Amino acid sequence: MRPQDAGTLRGRCPTSLVDLPPGVAPERPADGLLSVELRWMDGRITSVLPVADAQGMVLPRLVEPHAHLDKAFSWTDYPNRSGTYAGAMEANMREHRTRTADRVQERSERALALAWRHGLRAIRTHIDSLGPGAACSWEVLTERRQQWKKRIELQLVALVPIAHWSTPEGEQLASQVAAAEGVIGGVIEPPCRGRAPRQALRHLLALAERLGCPVDLHIDEASEHPAAGVRQLLRVLSTMEVSVPITCSHASSLSLLNPGSLRRLGERMAEHHLQVVALPLTNGWLLGRRGQATPVQRPLAPIRQLRDRGVCVAVGGDNVQDPWFPGGNLDPLALMAMSVPLAQLAPWDEEGMAPFSTDAARLLGLAWDGVLRPGAPADLIHLPAGGWPELLSTPPQRKVLAGGVWVQD
Ligand SMILES: [Zn+2]
Repeated sequence: MRPQDAGTLRGRCPTSLVDLPPGVAPERPADGLLSVELRWMDGRITSVLPVADAQGMVLPRLVEPHAHLDKAFSWTDYPNRSGTYAGAMEANMREHRTRTADRVQERSERALALAWRHGLRAIRTHIDSLGPGAACSWEVLTERRQQWKKRIELQLVALVPIAHWSTPEGEQLASQVAAAEGVIGGVIEPPCRGRAPRQALRHLLALAERLGCPVDLHIDEASEHPAAGVRQLLRVLSTMEVSVPITCSHASSLSLLNPGSLRRLGERMAEHHLQVVALPLTNGWLLGRRGQATPVQRPLAPIRQLRDRGVCVAVGGDNVQDPWFPGGNLDPLALMAMSVPLAQLAPWDEEGMAPFSTDAARLLGLAWDGVLRPGAPADLIHLPAGGWPELLSTPPQRKVLAGGVWVQD
């Protein structure tokens, strides 16, 4: 047996991310961090037991529920210094027209290498899937998915305007998506009034249902027309049965609803099992702009209100150094460090880590929920010097264990 096939680690872990044996029920620590000893062998955890005292912090390897690897690191060549949504779209279109397989290869490989070192175990990436750069992006990313599958699970989402799914080319793309075990995506932009968006959504959902593909929409990424897209989606869902999981990415304008409307909308979203990916960094950068003024309104998915109504909400990083957002580096801990203050989250609360871990895993339909227990993958992030302040500092030092083997820097 190689020495790395078995190991032991002590550290403090958020209580919601450890499953202790029956009958072992230590008192919940005030900071939500339980001292545990983890043992593993042959890539699997063999025991998780509380200990009197431990240093540092331990987390499971984490999940990125929303990325765009096809355009990562393109800001330098295609910047959007105005910081507006329209400016980002224009730069993205220019980038897309010049896209080559070599560029997508270089970008995605760089992104995956960073994600691996930073402790991600799964990434859902949207791919621009209409236009001259679509074919090469799919070709490269389906190949990357195969190449990386033992290290990082990659989910591919076809991103097109929703009406595209009603065309013969859309049908063809859907078969390609299904063959790659991918996700049917789409952009629905406000004000999305009238029958046309509902017809497009109905067609998209029927196609996804027929092929058994999950759905993940860019919806209500806006500073106006609050929840216009989600309302249309709910209207369609009230007339048809859909069993595949449906994710609403962004859902930013929902935060502009009054509390009563938001509560009722959240209830209907939960009834229809809609899931939400909140994207604080890209939204914080692009939305709520009023000329040169400092923004006083920051549209962002109302994470806590939706969770209170029973909606599964995960937090994602979205764009990485592309026209939509100049920062980001596929680091789940840096994402936490920035999202906690932006969304006023409390990761030390009982369910506070869920949007960054277990709910992200559930939303992606991953085999492992991300809770450390015997039989779970020996997949850890270890912060040798760490409590919450160190975790929320950028970027904290860490070591990553994947399948029971320490990842080399
Ligand atoms: Zn996105």
